[in-house]
Amino acid sequence: MDSTGQLFVLSGPSGVGKSSLREQVLQMVPELEYSISHSTRSPRHGEMDGKDYHFVSPETFLAMKEAGGFVEWAQVHGNYYGTSREQLDEHLYKHRDVLLEIDVQGARQVKGHYPKACFIFVLPPDRETLEKRLLERGTEPGADVETRLENASRELLEASWYDYLVINDDLEEAVEALAAIILSARCRREAILPRVQNLFQPH
Ligand code: ADP
Ligand code: 5GP
Repeated sequence: MDSTGQLFVLSGPSGVGKSSLREQVLQMVPELEYSISHSTRSPRHGEMDGKDYHFVSPETFLAMKEAGGFVEWAQVHGNYYGTSREQLDEHLYKHRDVLLEIDVQGARQVKGHYPKACFIFVLPPDRETLEKRLLERGTEPGADVETRLENASRELLEASWYDYLVINDDLEEAVEALAAIILSARCRREAILPRVQNLFQPH
């Protein structure tokens, strides 16, 4: 992975603001690709196939899974989600940095395949704020909101093994923190040295 692009994994409970952060950080940080996941959930109002997700049927998803088409996949809040192996490999081998926005189960799988990836977990300032954001977003029926809040407790425990924790209280500050993490990872020795080997050649 040293000579390929870097992988950034963003996780956090539903409603914490991952998509909001991701959209802004992609505008702020140059040359960062977003890996568009496959999902079996229904598109929300305003979501576009091929932009927000590749929306597929459970049959298509399971066939892709059987064919080894996913680097990682998980069942989250009752739907399937996965990262296309082909899409990710294409970005990385073109030396592109890639941002994945995936759940904690998928992140653990990515950790197994790409131990040097950078794992970032988004936290809410408190539980009330999380619930309020999820309710006010208004994209899920009440029962689904309940499922997402129940799952949040389990997901929050996983923050303990992530490399970076970003509290999304003020959105602008959280975007800046996320961008700073990505930009500093790009300055790591392992990222820079392969690009400047000629500096160390004798004349
Ligand atoms: P996730 O992708 O983690 O499920 P979203 O990005 O959809 O979360 O955010 C959930 C809701 O909270 C959205 O309505 C979004 O506009 C809002 N939101 C996100 N971040 C903040 C913030 N820092 N302050 C206030 N509202 C926020
Ligand atoms: P949502 O339905 O709110 O868009 O996403 C629900 C959850 O699925 C979020 O935690 C989100 O990060 C996660 N998710 C989105 N895409 C993927 C993916 O490709 N793989 C995994 N494992 N989780 C994903």
